[in-house]
Amino acid sequence: MAVSIGAPDGLRYNSAMQTPNSPSSESGATRGGASNATRGIETLPRIALLATGGTIAGSAADALQTAGYKAGALPVERLLEAVPALAELALIEAEQLASIDSKDMSVDVWARLAQRIDALLARPEIAGVVVTHGTDTLEETAYFLHLTLKSRKPVVVTAAMRPATALSADGPLNLCQAVKVAADPQAAGRGVLVVLNNQIHGARDVTKRNTAAVHAFESPEFGTLGWVQDARVEFQRTVTRPHTVDTPFAVPAHWPIVEIVASYAGVSAAMVDGLVAAGVHGIVVAGTGNGSIHATLQHALAQAAAQGVAVVRASRTGSGHVMRDGAAPDTELGFTAAGTLNPYKARVLLMLALALEIPLADLQAHFYVF
Ligand code: ASP
Repeated sequence: MAVSIGAPDGLRYNSAMQTPNSPSSESGATRGGASNATRGIETLPRIALLATGGTIAGSAADALQTAGYKAGALPVERLLEAVPALAELALIEAEQLASIDSKDMSVDVWARLAQRIDALLARPEIAGVVVTHGTDTLEETAYFLHLTLKSRKPVVVTAAMRPATALSADGPLNLCQAVKVAADPQAAGRGVLVVLNNQIHGARDVTKRNTAAVHAFESPEFGTLGWVQDARVEFQRTVTRPHTVDTPFAVPAHWPIVEIVASYAGVSAAMVDGLVAAGVHGIVVAGTGNGSIHATLQHALAQAAAQGVAVVRASRTGSGHVMRDGAAPDTELGFTAAGTLNPYKARVLLMLALALEIPLADLQAHFYVF
């Protein structure tokens, strides 16, 4: 039977179908159409919360301090205490996975995080996972998880720009909104999501663009995936590139060594020569403009590529794409163009691809696909 379930005038949907962007309180198997006020606690979605530190768990000497503070100082229990409203959104299972400033993020923490998330999501009763993280390397962690996790359930990474002790701290609302999104069945199958400041970003596209502003995160080339406010979660676009269960990537048993160098006025070959001598497996170059490289640096990188080092050409501009055989002769020099990945995300993909021991000639295809 066709019934109208809150569709715009003139639109009718079969009751078995989901309306596009149906109100989140009505969508999904775990919700049963009940409002928060009437829903019994046993029908709330169960969300796992993995805390890793960051400014969202930051502590300063007083409430006016938003720059000088210690990131990752507070335990996950303190984050939960600040948001009593979470109890109305979900049953939270919280764990402290790490307590670090994300500037110090390591591949060891990445490996533990990915393995723990996959283990949690394998439990049928867990609806989704929220990760609290520092903002500095959030985009790298999110993209790493996006490529390696093996579940379609929602995974949401959130953070804060102001420490938990600050006046107008942004962490509590970001955490609330992250849980809201993770508990929403609409969020499934979109890979890893990043939720801050009412916005839902895709892990591949999001980047930190400001040192201090609460609205520090943007998806510059493609825009946000959607938004969350109060009880409503709305998606405006889909994620088209393969992720999670649709990639060949896994947490590497042995991580390839991949470093980033930048091109700039007067750059020398010293860093590339040093990296090659140190035995790196790959180098990502943050090129000028559309991935152009100073002649001195390009010469050194060409020699590195000739010795079997994977060289990926990205841009330091922060948006736009780097086209193969555009600003440098990639085919001739054995380089790979990063497309729309920024240098830091290009490094993540390069490490994961090299860990699979794919032929270097196939790297470009991986950058086209993922
Ligand atoms: N340095 C902090 C971190 O990345 C910054 C933040 O979380 O905003 O952990």
